[in-house]
Amino acid sequence: EYILEAHNVYFQYEDGTEALRGISLGIEKGKKTVVLGHNGAGKSTLFLHFNGIYRPERGEIRFAGEKVLYGKSFLKKLRKNVGIVFQDPDTQLFSANVFQEISFGPLNLGLSKKETYEKVFQAMEETGITHLKDRPTHLLSYGEKKRVAIADVLAMDPEVIILDEPTAWLDPISTRQTLKLLDKINAQGKTLLLSTHDVDLAYSWADHIILMKEGEVVGEGTPETVFADE
Ligand code: ADP
Ligand code: ADP
Repeated sequence: EYILEAHNVYFQYEDGTEALRGISLGIEKGKKTVVLGHNGAGKSTLFLHFNGIYRPERGEIRFAGEKVLYGKSFLKKLRKNVGIVFQDPDTQLFSANVFQEISFGPLNLGLSKKETYEKVFQAMEETGITHLKDRPTHLLSYGEKKRVAIADVLAMDPEVIILDEPTAWLDPISTRQTLKLLDKINAQGKTLLLSTHDVDLAYSWADHIILMKEGEVVGEGTPETVFADE
């Protein structure tokens, strides 16, 4: 059962770069899917289609079997259910301190202060950042910012969590901690989709791997099968 699908999605940037060249793929509900590809393969562009930030020029995106429509109400539903952790935390974090940062999403969804408080503390605990609660976000280390960005999305309790290169520039210990955290989130029933150019990470962590190159899918399968014919 696919929670997210792309059907013949074509997308070109304004400067003429063809980032997605009629791409089709499905993300299975409850699984850990990794999109593996070099820089520029189109991974980020694909992810931005999955929560409606970008709209395909041709083709369509589906969420839970439904064709994504680009009106206010569908986009609201989509963005509540599909959370994105951006590659660069500085593009995601904008509040004065960590607590306010993580509160923003749930408050924006209309949760009460009490419900928000609970969600924020749960998210901080899970990501190991409770001690950073009152710290200004701009003074955090890169690794800390990455964890706040994950907590941001967790607090909104989406069904799918998409992470763009979540382990890029993290040291090996932080990388392992992040992957362990993601396993825990997945065990709670969340669908996870992440991108990487790290073959070993994809091989050891994914349930399903999608290989992307120059805006196209060039292979997919389980870690055991996907590299078999290379
Ligand atoms: P990946 O996430 O796999 O590194 P991207 O989706 O970021 O790939 O990029 C796909 C292609 O689109 C690349 O050729 C990239 O240079 C180009 N691209 C990405 N963002 C923009 C943009 N804002 N304007 C023009 N081209 C872009
Ligand atoms: P940074 O890389 O930002 O300096 P550290 O890697 O030094 O952060 O981690 C600081 C503390 O947070 C350590 O005690 C570490 O065990 C914990 N930690 C780091 N990453 C995670 C994570 N993804 N989930 C939970 N705890 C983490």
